[in-house]
This record gives sequence, structure tokens and C-alpha cells, in this order.
Amino acid sequence: MGQVVLTINAGSSSVKFAVFAFAGGELDEMARGQVDGLGAQAKFAAKRASGEKAQFALDSSHGPADHRAGMKAILRWLGEEKLVDNVVAVGHRVLHGGRDFTKPARVDAALIATLRTLIPLGELHEPFNILGIEAAIDAFPGVPQVACFDTAFHRAQPFVADVYGLPRSYYDEGVRRYGFHGLSYEYIARQLKKVAPEIADGRVVVCHLGNGSSLCAIHKGRAVATTMGMTPLDGVPMGTRSGQIDPGVLFYLMKVKGMSVKAVSDLIHHNSGLKGLSGISQDMRELEASTSPAAKEAIDYFVYRIRREIGSLAAALEGLDAIVFTGGIGENSQRTREEVLTGMAWLGVRFDAAANAVNAQRISTPDSRTTALVIKTNEERMIAGHAVAVAGLVAA
Ligand code: ADP
Repeated sequence: MGQVVLTINAGSSSVKFAVFAFAGGELDEMARGQVDGLGAQAKFAAKRASGEKAQFALDSSHGPADHRAGMKAILRWLGEEKLVDNVVAVGHRVLHGGRDFTKPARVDAALIATLRTLIPLGELHEPFNILGIEAAIDAFPGVPQVACFDTAFHRAQPFVADVYGLPRSYYDEGVRRYGFHGLSYEYIARQLKKVAPEIADGRVVVCHLGNGSSLCAIHKGRAVATTMGMTPLDGVPMGTRSGQIDPGVLFYLMKVKGMSVKAVSDLIHHNSGLKGLSGISQDMRELEASTSPAAKEAIDYFVYRIRREIGSLAAALEGLDAIVFTGGIGENSQRTREEVLTGMAWLGVRFDAAANAVNAQRISTPDSRTTALVIKTNEERMIAGHAVAVAGLVAA
């Protein structure tokens, strides 16, 4: 077996990974998987590109598994696959890169120290991203580790898209609209060059719709504006996050209802969005299958906010050549795509219902002034590409 690149996405209770064969400057996905249930009953699961699966429970006889134990489980599986010694680079997904990280960077002690200063900007993810990096350094000593930031793509956006209407000192200290899902948007921008080169340099709104959802306006392959802000709470409603909310609502919850900061944070992070509105589930598949009026209203609100944001981003772009759907919902929910696009005729979209019904890549009619596309995202592939470039294994 030749060289192998590993990608790591460490969350609060899981470590997701993917393995790519690296030969002749090309990356080929070999497998992906995860260790989940960290802190409780952890288990490892992997699936090879061939479809073959592997799984095992982590040893909890000395207490619940932590991130280091999770990384050891990945290491054990790579050992069984005889791949451990072939790992030439490890790429890490990192939620927040703050003001300064505009591109992926090689991990060293100074970078880890900087990431620690960014914890207040991404309390729910950044500490675990750091744990993942530290565990990977232990597991693969001497192998280049590369941090890839979900915010970096958006650093190209202009000042007006980056700022809040607060005194300027807040912007200067880092209170900015950072935006997220940047690795997904970067991947889509690159894929557009292959699948729709006539659009790739145009004005594009990408809708990344999954458990977390955001939209991004892209022109000539560069970020112009996005719906998420300093944190991944803003913009469209999500599985459990509220999306855009009047800050006055938060004052009301705290001052009038006496809720603590933690209770409000839990509410808008974990019990709002599709889950809170429907009272049924955060999962779009379950909502689509439900006959409950509340499930329909939750989907209606989701679609309505996406349509409004597309209009807003088209204004930021001063025009629109294409809308791209990606993420678990964007790639799979025919209903969401249909309901979003049938309201977009005023922006030049002629929706192709037949193409949508068979999950075609192009879901607008040939005479549509604005093209609508479905493109599967692959953040891991983007991370692996950055890892080999930053590690100096290929030209960047
Ligand atoms: P994450 O943001 O955690 O990466 P995903 O991108 O995997 O999430 O998206 C998960 C969402 O995609 C869930 O709401 C799920 O219901 C939805 N989804 C997946 N497949 C389908 C489908 N066939 N139809 C409708 N929704 C789907």
C-alpha cells in the first residue's frame, strides 16, 4: 500500500475520520467512519469505499473513552488494515479560525496556543477540535498535521458583509460575521468548475442544508456573504438551532422569564429550529413522513427562510446565475428543493420537477435564466487536499 492521508473531525462526543489513498498527486477515498459515544459507551464504525464494514466497542473497563481513546481506536483499525505506517499527513477540521486564519495551516505549538484563544468564539466545538489535534499528534508523531478552518473561505468577504452594527472597537477585537461550512463551500466552488464551468465564475448562491444549515453567496469562486455569523446560530433555522432571532427575544427570555444564560443557550442551540417548531424531530426525513400540521409548519418556516436568504444573497451579489443545493437535506430532500425553487421564478429560476424527482444534478429547465444544481459535498476530500498541499506533498 502506498501513501495514505487521514482526515479528522473531532466533535464533543465523536471523532469522524476518512482515509484517502494518495498516489500520483491524486486522492482516492478508501474508507470513512467514526468513533461515537465518547464519554459514555463508545463504539467504532468504519465503512470501506467497497462497502465493507467494520465495527467494535471501545474498552470502557477503565472508565468512559475520551478523545485520546477514540484516536487509539482509529489507530487500531488502521493497524489492522496495515495502513498505520503509510499515513503521510493528517488534516483536521477546525470550526473557528478567527480573524487571522484565511487558509489552512500546519499545526505547531503556536497554532494550538492560538486555537485556545479562539475557544470563546466556538465553545461547543473548538475545545474538541484541539483535543482531536493533540490526540492525533500523539498517535502519529512526526507526521505533518494540518488545521483546516470552517471560517477561512469567508475571510474573503467584504467589510460590509463581515461587520455588525456595533461600535467599531468590537469589530477590531473580533466580533465579526465569520460564517461556517467554508470547507463545503470551497469544495462546491471547485466542483462547479468541473460540472458547470460556464457558471463557476458567475454569481452563485450555495445552500448547504443539513443538521446545521447555511447559505453562501459566491462570485468568481470567492465568498461574498453568508448567513451564519460570529457563531453558527444565525441565518436559517436548523435541526435544533433557531437561526436568525431578534436579540430582544433573548433579553425577554432572561429578564422576564428569568432564564439563565445557560438555559437560553440550550434552548436556541438544542431545542429550537425544526425540532422545536415541530415538537416531533430535528430530522427532515421524519418531518416529511409525518402527517402532523406542526411538522408541515416547521418545514414551511425552513423553506420560507431559505427563500428569503436567497433573495438577500442575490442582492449582495447584484444578480444570480445559479443556486446550488448540498448537505444531507439539499442533496436528498426533493420536497425542500421543490418548495424553495418554485418560489424563485422572479429570480429567473424555471424549476424542472421531473429532473428533481430523479435527483438529477441539474434541476432547472434548459431555458432557465438561473441554473439550479444539486452537488454532493465532500468536506473530507477538501481537508485531505489541503493536508497534502500544506504538508508540501503536492504543489498548493
Ligand atoms: P450534518 O449537518 O450533521 O452533516 P447532514 O448533512 O448529514 O447533517 O444532514 C442531515 C439531514 O439530512 C437530516 O435532517 C436528514 O433527515 C436529512 N436527510 C437525509 N436524507 C434525506 C432524504 N432522503 N430526504 C429528506 N431529508 C434527508
